[in-house]
Amino acid sequence: MKKKLDCSFCGREQKEVEMLIAGPTGAHICDICATSANQILEEQGLTLSEFLPKTKTAKLVKPHKIKEYLDQYIIGQDRAKKAISVSVYNHYKRLNNIMGKNDVELEKSNILLLGPTGTGKTLLARSLATFLEVPFTIADATVLTEAGYVGEDVENILVRLLQNAEYDVSAAERGIIFIDEIDKISRRSANASITRDVSGEGVQQGLLKILEGTEAQVPPKGGRKHPEQPLVKINTRNILFIVSGAFEGMEKLISKRLTQKSIGFNADIASKIENKGELLKLVEADDLLSYGLIPELIGRLPSVATFEELDDVALKSILTEPKNAIVKQFHKLFEIEGIKLEFTNSALLSIVEKAKKSGTGARGLRRVMETVMLEIMYEIPSKKNVEKVIISKEVVVNQAEPKVIYRKKSA
Ligand code: ADP
Repeated sequence: MKKKLDCSFCGREQKEVEMLIAGPTGAHICDICATSANQILEEQGLTLSEFLPKTKTAKLVKPHKIKEYLDQYIIGQDRAKKAISVSVYNHYKRLNNIMGKNDVELEKSNILLLGPTGTGKTLLARSLATFLEVPFTIADATVLTEAGYVGEDVENILVRLLQNAEYDVSAAERGIIFIDEIDKISRRSANASITRDVSGEGVQQGLLKILEGTEAQVPPKGGRKHPEQPLVKINTRNILFIVSGAFEGMEKLISKRLTQKSIGFNADIASKIENKGELLKLVEADDLLSYGLIPELIGRLPSVATFEELDDVALKSILTEPKNAIVKQFHKLFEIEGIKLEFTNSALLSIVEKAKKSGTGARGLRRVMETVMLEIMYEIPSKKNVEKVIISKEVVVNQAEPKVIYRKKSA
C-alpha cells in the first residue's frame, strides 16, 4: 500500500494542502509551512531567494590561480593583474558570504582600470569573465546618457548583460559589466555634446546608482520603457563593475599634486615626475576628482589598477606568446592548407616598429600584420606544392615577395 505523505513540519496530509515539496532525505514541507518560513526570514531582514541555490554560481578561485590564467592571455601588466585577481577573489568571496549571517558586511569592490589605450584593459576584463564563467558585457560610457536625452539609457547596459546571460536573471545578477571610456564622461571632458547632458555629471550619477546596487526595472528587449512592455527586475548589488579609461593628461594632475604637497621636493618624487608610467601608479582619489569624476563615483571604485605603456619586448611577446597570439593564428591558417609559416626575428621587430607608429598600443599589431599578410594570403592558395613560407623584414618593410619553399616532387 502506498504510504500517505504528510508535511514533516506541521503534520498536515497531502490532501489538506495545496502543495507538498519533497526534500532529499524523505522529508516534506507544505506550502503553508514554506510561506511562514519565508515570513520569518523576511522579518529578520533576509529573503528566501538569497538562500536558494543560484543556477550558475561563480567559482571561488584563489588570486594566484586567477593571475595564472590571466598570464596566458595578457603580457606584462603584472601589478594590474595582481590587483584585479585580489579584487575579484574578494568580490566572489563576498557573494558566497551572503549565504550566511555575518557581523561584518563586506563591501563590493568595483575596479577602476587606468592606463593608455591598447594595453590590455578590455582584454583583461574579457578574459576574467571567460575564466569565471559569468555573463559579461562591455559598454561605452560615451554613448550613455542621462534618461531623457538622446542616446542610450544607463540601464540598457543591464539589458545587454541579461541578454548575454540568456535571460537568466540570477546569472546576470552575478555577472561582470565593463564600462569603457569612463574618463570621457568626466565633468571637464572636452567632447561633451549638446544633445547629451553637457557636463557628463548626469551620466555619472546614473552609473553610480547601478554601481552601488539598485533594483532596476529593465525592458528585456531594450529600448525605451513603455507601458505595454513588461519589465524585468535586476538587482545590481552583486554585479562586479570594471570601469576603464585612458585618463590622458592624468599624470600632469598627479605631478601637480605631488609638487604642491612636498615642500622640500625630494629627489624620489622628482624622478617619478620624469616617468609618466611611474606617475600614474601614484594616482589617488584626489586626482580622479580633479579629473572630473564625481566623489560618490570615486568612492564606489575602491580598487584601482594602472596599466603601463607596452614596450618593444612586450609588443613582440604579444605577437607570439599569448594562447591566441596573432602569429599563432596565422600559423594555424596556413597549417590548414598543409603549409608551414615562419617569421624571422627581424620581421617581427619591424611589425612592432610599424605598429608603434599608430600610437594605439598593441591594437596596431593586428592591423599591421593583416596588411603584411594580405597579398600572401591572396596568392599562396593558388600555388601548388608549397611547403613553407618565410616572412622576412623585407616583406614587412618593402612589401617584398616572401620566400617560398616548395615540396620536392616524389619520383
Ligand atoms: P585597451 O587597454 O584599450 O582596453 P585592449 O585590451 O582592447 O586595449 O587591447 C586591444 C588588443 O591588443 C587586444 O585585443 C589584444 O589583442 C592586444 N593587447 C593589448 N594589450 C595586451 C597585453 N598586455 N597582452 C596581450 N595582448 C594585448
